[in-house]
Amino acid sequence: MSEVMEEGRTATAADTRHFDVVVVGGGLGGLYALHRLRGLGLSVRVFEAGSGVGGTWFWNRYPGARCDVESMEYSYGFSDPLQQEWHWPERYGTQPEILRYINHVADRFDLRRDIQLNTRVVSAVFDPAAGQWTLGTEQGEMVTARFCVMASGNLSTPRVPDFKGLESFQGKWYHTGLWPHEGVDFSGLRVGVIGTGSSGVQMIPHIAAQADHLTVFQRTANFSLPARNAPLDPEKERRHKQEYEDRRRAALDTPFGIAGHPAPTQGALQVTEAERQSAYERKWAEGGSISFLYSYTDLLVNQEANDTASEFVRQKIRSIVRNPATAEILAPKDHPIGTKRLCLDTNYYETYNRNNVSLVDVKSDPIQEIAATGLRTRDGTFGPFDAIVFATGFDAMTGALREIDVRVEGGPALAEQWEAGPRTYLGLMVSGFPNMFVVTGPGSPSVKTQMILAIEQHTDWIADCLTYMRDHGYERIEASRPAQDAWVEHVNQVADSTLYPLANSWYVGANIPGKPRVFMPYVGGFAGYKRRCDSVAANGYEGFVLSR
Ligand code: NAP
Repeated sequence: MSEVMEEGRTATAADTRHFDVVVVGGGLGGLYALHRLRGLGLSVRVFEAGSGVGGTWFWNRYPGARCDVESMEYSYGFSDPLQQEWHWPERYGTQPEILRYINHVADRFDLRRDIQLNTRVVSAVFDPAAGQWTLGTEQGEMVTARFCVMASGNLSTPRVPDFKGLESFQGKWYHTGLWPHEGVDFSGLRVGVIGTGSSGVQMIPHIAAQADHLTVFQRTANFSLPARNAPLDPEKERRHKQEYEDRRRAALDTPFGIAGHPAPTQGALQVTEAERQSAYERKWAEGGSISFLYSYTDLLVNQEANDTASEFVRQKIRSIVRNPATAEILAPKDHPIGTKRLCLDTNYYETYNRNNVSLVDVKSDPIQEIAATGLRTRDGTFGPFDAIVFATGFDAMTGALREIDVRVEGGPALAEQWEAGPRTYLGLMVSGFPNMFVVTGPGSPSVKTQMILAIEQHTDWIADCLTYMRDHGYERIEASRPAQDAWVEHVNQVADSTLYPLANSWYVGANIPGKPRVFMPYVGGFAGYKRRCDSVAANGYEGFVLSR
């Protein structure tokens, strides 16, 4: 038996060996896929590497971990009783609260009996003659399935940079994405944090409040806006619940999959400087990133327009951080605001005013190696540290899929085919890999939207596709090469018409040395993307080859 039960009865390795569908991953994507596909009368098995469900929210337990999309939005919309009954205590959900919600969903929809925990899928091989996938697990178990659904996540392969000497470090080290379940008490410790992306920005104020001294190593200064988290206003919650159905529907018609933010109608350069400042001030006071980026129509496509917003935030940083030299290191100058994931924080910049916090710029003087008690850059040594925390991110969007040996019998692995960057049709399927769907894969809006909405849209599309195949007697579906090529070209063209490619972000794989530079998410907006997926289906799955 390869499972440990966290709560309720989960599936075991001794159960059935053949399924209609195997789902890889028991996070928000995998759970909904199980629920939806089981609802079609299909036999489904979910394999999950963790000892509990939740994916991202199972692993990322670092201090201060919280979603940067508001909790009334960042939740499943498929069940009205669920969304009416669940109470989110705060404007933004904390990691423990979101994990509690996911576990509630697993119990409420009786999902656990088809989820096998502690089981990492390491291979998926399609047999063209039998028309089925064989999936192998780390424990050597093999199961077969007609269809395979990869719900393995976009930010699920934590990455510690390849620093020389890590094994010689005598203190403890952690990665935000593999946080110990029992938590870490930094009281009285000397701590080094490497990385200032969303995870670092959330965690740094919490560690600073506990540690004896915190040294932050920053490579790229990131833009961060105040989250303005607060207890959820009961009146706001009541109204939101009353309007839930309409709001969920409206969200489908927006670029980021989030309703409630009126679309901008003017460009930043069409208004006076005074008007712009007052708009940015209003958004800064309101909190949240979508609302800020929605100030004007052109912030993500016009450099001059973007400069006005970038400079506004730089000035805010300078006004918050008392030491001017520190403020200058923190003020981002090498990318337009919004082209790297815009962070949301609570007291991030304020933390640098504490006496026990120091900032080191490792852009100009990169980290060379980790030593027994600290770390070395080219020009200096830092430490001693009792603990080092890596907030260094993930092998994003392709990492989890490339770690699995996915191939058609006798053919090249998916990882080889993606050596020059991922290629998909609509982010849903990969040409040459029949009957394998990807949930929110590269080439879909995924990480540029409210993820749960994106998950539901993909899964519903897959469920409708399987129903269509059953109704028309098809057994195999595959993305055609020309359709895939055209889609990849479109994804690149859209990205190139924006400012996004100007940043060294994980959207282009820039955080992984040697990873090909390809813009991975689709930034043409959720609404247009969904319309495209719907019309492809309505036209008999245009661009896909269906066969018996
Ligand atoms: P990340 O955004 O990739 O940030 C990693 C940080 O580590 C960056 O500052 C990076 O610098 C730095 N770094 C990487 N390698 C380094 C090296 N060799 N030397 C020095 N610094 C190095 O990762 P993340 O913060 O974990 O966030 C990943 C994504 O997860 C986010 O963008 C977001 O989509 C999601 N997330 C969301 C939330 C939320 O909802 N609030 C919270 C956490 C994460 P460079 O920028 O120079 O590469």
